[in-house]
Amino acid sequence: QAKAAGRDTWRFYTPAMNEQALEQLQLRTLLRRALEQRQFVLYYQPQIDLASGALVGVEALVRLQREDGAIMAPGQFIAAAEDSGLIVPLGEWVLREACAQAMRWQQQGLPALTVAVNLSAVQFRRGDLLHSVTQALTDAGLAPQRLELELTESILIDDAEQMIDQLRRLKALGVCLSIDDFGTGYSSLAYLKRLAVDKLKIDQSFVRDIAGDPDDAAIVRAIISMARSLKLQVIAEGVETADAATLLRMHQCHEAQGWHFARPMPAQDLPGWLEQYQGRRGA
Ligand code: C2E
Ligand code: MG
Ligand code: MG
Ligand code: MG
Repeated sequence: QAKAAGRDTWRFYTPAMNEQALEQLQLRTLLRRALEQRQFVLYYQPQIDLASGALVGVEALVRLQREDGAIMAPGQFIAAAEDSGLIVPLGEWVLREACAQAMRWQQQGLPALTVAVNLSAVQFRRGDLLHSVTQALTDAGLAPQRLELELTESILIDDAEQMIDQLRRLKALGVCLSIDDFGTGYSSLAYLKRLAVDKLKIDQSFVRDIAGDPDDAAIVRAIISMARSLKLQVIAEGVETADAATLLRMHQCHEAQGWHFARPMPAQDLPGWLEQYQGRRGA
């Protein structure tokens, strides 16, 4: 198979380098080229305030748009981007593009929105995040309060003290910090206080079947009540049904995000979606 791919590939193909490694190499090349050729795009998924039903924010989710038009989801390339370090320049681009887009919507007269950006642990370890975030905000002219940074508990694994310090500095800029996929990691509750986070994002695995599975419902209720007593905002992701949304509202979850409200969409589709959504709500 390697032979068929050409002489150059053949030369590098040692028995130690199995097919999987070869695929990884090809993926890295594809990603590097995609970055140069600006083939990454951001999709945005609405975040809804459950009490009022209003759109309050969007999460930026990266995709790779290939030359043939095919769209690659982040699950197919984020790990490779992390392993190769490409997540650092890619993450910088995501920050800049998301901030610039939030500013464009603001100028178009859309209601005030926050834009949430996912950060990888590698960006904390290998990048100068404070600088990237400051630069992205300044260049876009966006108020820091409009930017939310989503982190997972995994950033605390290597060097918790150093991470906490970086988070404090980020927080001091005025941006909002949230813990993504909350409930799947293992950070202690004491950390949450020290981390100066503003928001917990309940992992979708607990949310998806909240209306059907009593255990999931119990976990979600416990997270909401803990978040509220720590004076943290709480958002549920993976809200796929009206029943789930109703339950979350009953349990006083602040915000929700999921297919029930909208799928992630290209930036240009958001104003049209909002108009329809407001029409449906009679707002
Ligand atoms: P995440 O940040 O937890 O994002 C939520 C994922 O769930 C997204 O998948 C979203 O499209 C999907 N989702 C939203 N609502 C629903 C729903 O109701 N049902 C179901 N089944 N799924 C729903 P996506 O866009 O494929 O992103 C996957 C993951 O890739 C993200 O998980 C995030 O960890 C990572 N990611 C995405 N963009 C970036 C980025 O710019 N940088 C980094 N470092 N990671 C990113
Ligand atoms: Mg996220
Ligand atoms: Mg999330
Ligand atoms: Mg998540």
